Amino acid sequence: MKTLAIHNPATGTLIRELPCDDAASIAAKALAARSAQPAWAALPLAHRKDCIVRFRAAVVAELQALAATMTAETGKPISMSRNELNGLLGRIDFFLAEVDASTATQTVFHEGGMTEQIEHLPLGVVANISAWNYPWFVGCNVIIPALLTGNTVLYKPSEYATLTGLAIARLLHAAGVPLDVFVLCVGGAGVGTALQAQRIDGLFFTGSYATGAKIAQTLGPRMVKLQLELGGKDPTYVCEDADPAIAAASLADGAMYNTGQSCCSVERIYVHEKIFDAFVAAFLDTVRGFRVGDPMDDATYIGALTRSAQLDVLDAQVADAIAKGATLLTGGQRLPGNSYAPTVFTGVDHTMDLMVEESFGPVIGIQKVASDAEAVALMNDTRYGLTAGVFSPDEARARAVLAQVRAGSVYWNCCDRVSPRLPWSGYGDSGMGLTLSTYGIQTFTRPKAWHLRQA
Ligand code: NAD
Repeated sequence: MKTLAIHNPATGTLIRELPCDDAASIAAKALAARSAQPAWAALPLAHRKDCIVRFRAAVVAELQALAATMTAETGKPISMSRNELNGLLGRIDFFLAEVDASTATQTVFHEGGMTEQIEHLPLGVVANISAWNYPWFVGCNVIIPALLTGNTVLYKPSEYATLTGLAIARLLHAAGVPLDVFVLCVGGAGVGTALQAQRIDGLFFTGSYATGAKIAQTLGPRMVKLQLELGGKDPTYVCEDADPAIAAASLADGAMYNTGQSCCSVERIYVHEKIFDAFVAAFLDTVRGFRVGDPMDDATYIGALTRSAQLDVLDAQVADAIAKGATLLTGGQRLPGNSYAPTVFTGVDHTMDLMVEESFGPVIGIQKVASDAEAVALMNDTRYGLTAGVFSPDEARARAVLAQVRAGSVYWNCCDRVSPRLPWSGYGDSGMGLTLSTYGIQTFTRPKAWHLRQA
């Protein structure tokens, strides 16, 4: 049997070796999830909610150990692992609070003996192929509302976050979710491919554009509901009326939190020429204060890159920027523990990969602009469109800029922020479909239209 070896990216040590799924086991799991689905959907919603309430309590009870597991397998700084788990609780609370109203049958017309209703039925069996960078967040954005709305779930965590996936499965099963209702699938790309071959009613994917595009090609002709939450190259514009120190502190964190491995990391910054120097000085001050080190240490801010291959991407972006004339202000090299020095460039432009391709590491370019119009044009010069932000005390100005930017989420005086109350979606190569908000509950349902005429 094939196995999956799980290494600690910071130390290189083998943590565990797990048996992998294969095409035959995935087919059997999909069949089991199919037969279990009607009974799960037939249970009262209150029963499914009770399971999730118990799951939430178990996350709280085991939070320290779960954080340590996530840090060991991903290199995420331990304080950020705890933040993710604490943040998850609010997301679960949102889903629990909103699922009844979001999925109740709605009467939308009732006149002259004619009634029209919308009923929210589960999709059926959904597959979730997930990423490693926020494994609890991106996993549970799908798993929790999918289960609450009566679907069974085939969950394939990333091969870089499978111990976290095992923990999610263990806690859901202990909370009363039957084994065939939430089914863990272990492995890498091959197991993801096998999942797509099954009879499924929805596929919810979080990961890179390259993989998302392959999945879209495969599933397109099969009419399977498909959601793709992909990458980004998220811009922020700092206007000349902004406080450069406040904007710099917030954006340095937005760029480098989680070692820069967030889908909504700030990936490029445009600063009005009038405050450019003050902004860059403050930005550098903040970045030089970021402690790089052992992810298990509470004081560490920059941990390990989860995949060592990403170090090559960062090296290549740095070399390309330097070759094209950018100014390297700090960083630009690998550090022990599969880490990368927080890296800041000025003198950048859009001929450089650093400003157009996702970096997914603690690397940032800061470009000077002369007007709002120039900033808007540069912000929109991308194939992605996940988030975008503006720093300015002038709300009307910020709104005017953000209204012109193609992005699923826009930020005024903040960045790198996700709310369970708001839909999470992207334009262009950042994907299609959405999670979170009440729409992110209804997306796991099939709205059935009832036309009822009284005889
Ligand atoms: P990835 O595409 O390498 O892998 C994602 C998942 O797809 C993994 O589980 C992997 O095993 C699986 N997979 C790989 N090849 C496959 C195939 N051919 N068929 C089916 N499954 C396959 O992405 P990653 O490195 O895990 O994640 C990083 C990317 O995810 C970044 O681009 C990041 O921006 C993006 N991301 C987006 C969001 C969002 O909400 N938009 C959130 C987190 C991460």
